[in-house]
Amino acid sequence: MKILVINAGSSSIKYQLFDMDKESVLTGGLIERIGLESGRVTHNVFQDGTKQKMTRELTIRDHRQGLQLLADLLVDPKLGVITDPSEIDAVGHRVVHGGERFHKTIVITPEVIDAIRDLIPLAPLHNPANLKGIQVAMEIFSSAVQVAVFDTAFHSNMPDWAYRYAIPNALYRQHGIRVYGFHGTSHLYVSKVAARHLHKPLAATNLITAHLGNGASITAVRGGKSVDTSMGFSPLPGLMMGTRSGDIDPAVVFHLHDKLGMSVPEIDHILNKESGLLGVGGSNDLRDVQQRQERGDADAELALNMYTYRIKKYIGAYMAALGRVDALVFTAGVGENSPYVRWHACQGLENLGIKLDEDRNDKRINDVTEIQADGSPIKVMVIPTNEELEIATQTNAVIMETR
Ligand code: AMP
Repeated sequence: MKILVINAGSSSIKYQLFDMDKESVLTGGLIERIGLESGRVTHNVFQDGTKQKMTRELTIRDHRQGLQLLADLLVDPKLGVITDPSEIDAVGHRVVHGGERFHKTIVITPEVIDAIRDLIPLAPLHNPANLKGIQVAMEIFSSAVQVAVFDTAFHSNMPDWAYRYAIPNALYRQHGIRVYGFHGTSHLYVSKVAARHLHKPLAATNLITAHLGNGASITAVRGGKSVDTSMGFSPLPGLMMGTRSGDIDPAVVFHLHDKLGMSVPEIDHILNKESGLLGVGGSNDLRDVQQRQERGDADAELALNMYTYRIKKYIGAYMAALGRVDALVFTAGVGENSPYVRWHACQGLENLGIKLDEDRNDKRINDVTEIQADGSPIKVMVIPTNEELEIATQTNAVIMETR
C-alpha cells in the first residue's frame, strides 16, 4: 500500500510518500512560494542509503501546478520512486479544522468536501488551502482514495466543562464558539509512542504532551484521549509561541481598539504575527533568543522566562486535571531540541513528582528518550513527532476498514 501524505498550506505543499508494507518513506519534500514569482521545490532523493535534497527554483502558479510537479517528480525516470501515479493507493490530507462534525479520519466524499468548506469561517487561513489540496489531488491522483485527517479530531471528545467558554450558551449553540484544539495529530502520535515505550495500553495511559514548535500547545491525555488542551477556538491561545501571544486578557483587545485606535485586522496581526518570542525577545526562533540572552540581552532573558513559566503553569494545571500522570512528553522543534526549555519548564515541579536528570536532558536526542532523574515518580520523555507518519497510519487504517 503506497500512501501519499499532503499538507497543503496557502502558499506551500508539504508531502511524503510512504510504502506501508515495507514501513518505509519513499520520498518527501516541500513545494513552496506557490503563487509568487520565485517558487521552489525541495525534493528528497534517497540514494545508496543517504538522503540528498534536490532543489529547483521556478514559478509555481497555483496548487494544481504544484501537485502536477510533484506527480512528475514521483515518476521521473531519474529521481522517481514509482512508474505511474496510479501506483498510489491513497492520499492522506491534513485538514486543520474538522469542527464538531468530524471526530475521526474519514474517506473524502462530496459531502465531506462541502462540510470542510462550511468550516472555513472557523479556519479562514487553513481550510481553504487544505480544500484546494484535496480538489487538485482528486484530479491528479484520480485513482487513489482520498482521506481527510483532522487536526482537531483528537480533541473532539473533550468533556464539555473543558471545551466550553463561560459565555452565553447561544454563542456556542448557534455559532460553535468553543475550544477545538489543534496539533491533534502530533499529540496523538507521541501519545501512542509513549504508551508503547511504557509497555502500557494507550487506553490506560495518562500523559501531558507538550508540542513546542513555532506553534505550541500542550494537552492533557487521559486513557489515550485528549481531555484538555491549551489552544482554543483558534490556534492563538495557550502557550507563548514563536510569534503568537498565547493566553491574553481579551479586554486588551478592546483597549487596543477603543483607546489606541487600532483596527481589528491590525490587532489580529500583532497577536498572531508580532507577539510571542518575537514580540518580547526579538526573534521568533528560540535559538536566536537564547543567543541574545547569552549576550546579556534583558528582553531575551524575559522572553525565555515567560516562555518556560507558561509551560510550567500548564503542566501544573494538567496534573490537576488528570490526577495521575504516567509521563510528561516533550516534542516538536523546541521540545525535541532545547534542553534549556525542558529544564526550566520543569524546575520547581519536583514536589509534584517531576524531576529531570541534567545529563540525560543535555544529551542530543533523536529517538525516544527518558530524561527524568532516577526515582522521579513521573517519567519525562522526549519523543520526535511524526505527523506525516500518523496521517499515513490513519489513512491506511481507514482504507483497511472499508475494504
Ligand atoms: P517546528 O515548528 O516544530 O518545526 O519548530 C521550529 C522551532 O523549533 C524553531 O523556530 C526554533 O525555535 C526551534 N528549534 C529548532 N531547533 C532548535 C534547537 N536546536 N534549539 C532550540 N530550539 C530549536
